[in-house]
Amino acid sequence: MVQGIANWNTEQTEEWLQGYVDDWVAFFRKHTNEGKVASYIPELKKANPDQLGISIVGTNGMKIQSGDTSIPFTIQSISKVFSFIVACMERGVSYMLDRVDVEPTGEAFNSIMHLEMRQVKKPFNPLVNAGAITVSSILEGNTSDEKLEPIFELLEKLLHYRPAIDVDVYESERDSSMRNRAIGYYLLETGFLESDLNSTLETYFKQCSIELTIEDIARIGTTLANDGRDIETDEEIIPRPIARIAKALMLTCGMYDASGKFATYVGIPAKSGVSGGIMAVVPPRVRSEDMPFIEGCGIGVFGPALDKQGNSIAGIRLLKHIARQWDLSIF
Ligand code: GLU
Repeated sequence: MVQGIANWNTEQTEEWLQGYVDDWVAFFRKHTNEGKVASYIPELKKANPDQLGISIVGTNGMKIQSGDTSIPFTIQSISKVFSFIVACMERGVSYMLDRVDVEPTGEAFNSIMHLEMRQVKKPFNPLVNAGAITVSSILEGNTSDEKLEPIFELLEKLLHYRPAIDVDVYESERDSSMRNRAIGYYLLETGFLESDLNSTLETYFKQCSIELTIEDIARIGTTLANDGRDIETDEEIIPRPIARIAKALMLTCGMYDASGKFATYVGIPAKSGVSGGIMAVVPPRVRSEDMPFIEGCGIGVFGPALDKQGNSIAGIRLLKHIARQWDLSIF
């Protein structure tokens, strides 16, 4: 256990922590060969399964990065957190919660089963495909570009630059995603969609294809850890009650059908995507001062080799280890 220093926010301790993280990334990288890159979106098959990188940005401004840190990747399901936040900001929380539930499914992200079997009145949660596609339909605007603009504006505020869509990945998913079209038609038939199916699916495919780096993901995580306030300017970018719901959803539903295990063994809100990204949010903890990042941090992880549930196989192990070493669990 790394401990014994009261003030972690100094250059020496940053260097010291960096050494640990470098060792951990090197150690956990070997697990990448136990997983497989996503192949159901043809363009994602091109990812290099050996890659692993992590970025940690503290609400105190301390930054540690290690491994493959500079590779932009499409955020896939991580985008579901952002579209839900924007929809809540546009329509209000109660409007959204009337239309999308906040319950874990225990099923795969693209499952259609619950919608049919339990005759639910609304999709289970906004972080699985049925819920996220419903959210895309609720976003204001008639075209996908109109619907996406506030998502880009939010990301620009969070990151201080405007990210872009990886068009090849977008087209690849648009042309191959029969399952999401099936979910879309089902939602249309059951009256859940609030926009036409085409603009809804186009919005969904494009938001999944937004390209970010792990540092971007960590920065956004930090703002969420900081209850929606920018750590440099203290501007409220995401209203606190919405940031809070987003974190609760990440904790209960963010890691596919391994969400319960992740909450139990790692204990921090996180959302993963099939391209191998994970956004984790560590809120400030009430602990003895001698733990790093006690005031909270955001963590971005990228490791395209996935486990059976669709989570980065080495990324999860790395996060679990760091959470143990630094006592990051919220519990
Ligand atoms: N675009 C992907 C899909 O809908 C996102 C899935 C994910 O990252 O979980 O299949």
